[in-house]
Amino acid sequence: MSRAPSPIVLPPAKRIPKLVSEYLTPPDTLFTFEFDTYDIDESFLLKNIVGHIFLRMMQDTDWRGGGEIGSTSSSSSSNICGLASPEHHGTLATFIHLVCNHYRNNPYHNFQHAVNVLHSTYILLHRAHYLPRIPPAFVFATLIAALCHDVDHPGNTNSYEIHSNSALAMLYNDNSVLENHHCHLTFTLLEQSGLKNVLLNTVGVDGYRACRQVIIACILGTDMSKHSELLRTFEAATALVPAAAAAAPAVGAGANDIRDDSDDGEEKGGSVFGTEEAVLLLKCVVHFADLSNGTKHFEAVHFWSTKISEEFWIQSLHEEQLGLPSLSFMKARDPLSMCVNELMFLRNHVLPMWEGWVRKCPDMHFLVEAIQRNIREWEALEQDYRHTHEIHSLTF
Ligand SMILES: [Zn+2]
Repeated sequence: MSRAPSPIVLPPAKRIPKLVSEYLTPPDTLFTFEFDTYDIDESFLLKNIVGHIFLRMMQDTDWRGGGEIGSTSSSSSSNICGLASPEHHGTLATFIHLVCNHYRNNPYHNFQHAVNVLHSTYILLHRAHYLPRIPPAFVFATLIAALCHDVDHPGNTNSYEIHSNSALAMLYNDNSVLENHHCHLTFTLLEQSGLKNVLLNTVGVDGYRACRQVIIACILGTDMSKHSELLRTFEAATALVPAAAAAAPAVGAGANDIRDDSDDGEEKGGSVFGTEEAVLLLKCVVHFADLSNGTKHFEAVHFWSTKISEEFWIQSLHEEQLGLPSLSFMKARDPLSMCVNELMFLRNHVLPMWEGWVRKCPDMHFLVEAIQRNIREWEALEQDYRHTHEIHSLTF
């Protein structure tokens, strides 16, 4: 009896993801402050946006003019330009893919938020004219940090980790528990994707070590308990920036637009930052980007507020179940409490922080104006909810 031939089983094709898809056109507003990911929740669209931001950065003339790590003058040739080579695009895309897969499906701390922070980081660096003074490898490292700054976030705060005696709190001795975890995982994914080797081959051992310093500082700098300390750092770091760095945009560039704003490093004068100064400045930039929701249009602001309220509320339920202490604002999920919480956060933390940024970069005053506009929107909503509440109390 003849046996049926065995089906041919082919080994799985090794599929290298693409950095950007030829079938997906990025949004027109991608390289402006108007852009926000609040209405994009498909991971393939978000990964494509990440690819476009990295591609733009690698093709950026400002970025390429930033000089070598540790150099003190601008240089048009840069060893990091090797990274822009298409042969490395697959490795970078693999890294982005891995990072996306390691973000959890939390209401707020998810890949959508990470892409927003990456976007704001790039736009801030570009628009503030810091790019020509920062070694390009550091810009690359900063974008890696921004993308990974919340990777594998469990959807609860450091305080919850500490009070629940979690494994992570034990591992990191209650010290910036989540940020240390995000940082550790970033380096694991850099290794797994092969991007660490590409970086090592491109910038050398010392260059890689300096990039590692940037990534660690930027991710640990997103710990909100270090907020006030970081604002003082920003003042100190920007004091080192020559006045020209805060120059007005090139004639013809829109207030929100960086597309035509391509000043070159030599014209701006001043030297490239050394490692220490760059690290100080870059960690501030990522923290600013992490708190940039309030500078967006109100629809996006409202979306992200709803999401963070939801995440806090879920945490408060877990705290209740475990008998852990809980902050009162986390338990409140009604619209009036959301307005009150947002107003408190915007007035006490976000507005003063961005006023500090605009003092250094006066041509970006529209960011502070946007926050003030959003405060007025929340105040109007608060009034409406209070009014409705009063009518409700009178009726019943
Ligand atoms: Zn974040």
